[in-house]
Amino acid sequence: MYDIIIVGAGPAGLTAALYARRANKKVLVLEAKTYGGQIINTPEIENYPGIPKISGYDYATNLYNQALELGAEIKFETVIRVEKDKTVETNKDHYKAKAVILAIGADKRKLNLPKEVDLIGKGVSYCATCDGNFFKNKIVAVNGGGNTALEEAIYLSNIAKKVYLIHRRDTFRGEKKYVDEVLKKENIERIMNSTITKINGEKHLESIEIVNQEGKTNTIEINGLFIAIGQAPKNEIFKNIIELTQDGYIKSEDGVHTNIKGIYVAGDSREKELRQLTTAVSDGAIAATTAIKEMED
Ligand code: NAP
Repeated sequence: MYDIIIVGAGPAGLTAALYARRANKKVLVLEAKTYGGQIINTPEIENYPGIPKISGYDYATNLYNQALELGAEIKFETVIRVEKDKTVETNKDHYKAKAVILAIGADKRKLNLPKEVDLIGKGVSYCATCDGNFFKNKIVAVNGGGNTALEEAIYLSNIAKKVYLIHRRDTFRGEKKYVDEVLKKENIERIMNSTITKINGEKHLESIEIVNQEGKTNTIEINGLFIAIGQAPKNEIFKNIIELTQDGYIKSEDGVHTNIKGIYVAGDSREKELRQLTTAVSDGAIAATTAIKEMED
């Protein structure tokens, strides 16, 4: 029996673990993949208060080690089901706690085009820092107009011969600082007002088809396609008991409680305005302290 089971070892979950351990609670963190969540793939974090610059990997590793050193138990198992009585079933075992914090974050959004999934690892990627090195002096495309797409295009421009940056609108959503950097890169070609409609290739990616605002189709031959079109929640596993929004995020009126007593939410998986590292760690701290207060009341 644990005091708190935390589902997800990203910044929100690990911060919750840290706060719960500092309150001397028995804590289990369950993580399906690797610790750190999405931030582990960010090349540089430059907007975390008090830390001018740190790589996502270093940040996530520091946080993971901090939680371990404080005595959090962290198991790499996939959660399959959470019950109202705070039983958590994984692919390996069943665990029970007085409180559960759901902090599984979000996944990379997919274009949902035929061949997209088949060609993952064969030219299609969702992470430039993970796979960029396979494309030395090759031609790649990045799809998206947010900070991730801009950062990935800049990162890849230092590795690949040419980078197409394809965005569906005429302005970028990402910060001016990154847009300015993109504009300075001679090997980044911006293709605006365009949508990818087809991914071609059998054994590996060969080309993509894009359609512009006027409905004109163009085929671009590329070796790599980096899809950076934001995030999508992955809360399906909780929908037996937890109320989700239409978009699939966990409903929470106050940003910490779910519809089930004793089950809390933290981080990108909940409905919220701003999905950032700072708001994720803030959520983790609030979820843990709220859970502790309510189990002791
Ligand atoms: P994002 O800000 O949500 O941007 C997603 C982009 O993909 C948008 O430009 C969007 O177009 C486009 N898009 C969405 N669905 C699409 C579709 N089906 N087809 C084509 N394009 C599509 O996502 P993000 O860039 O991953 O960033 C997520 C959050 O993390 C943001 O808050 C961001 O600021 C933050 N972040 C921060 C840093 C940093 O500070 N260093 C780095 C990375 C991410 P529209 O613009 O037309 O909607």
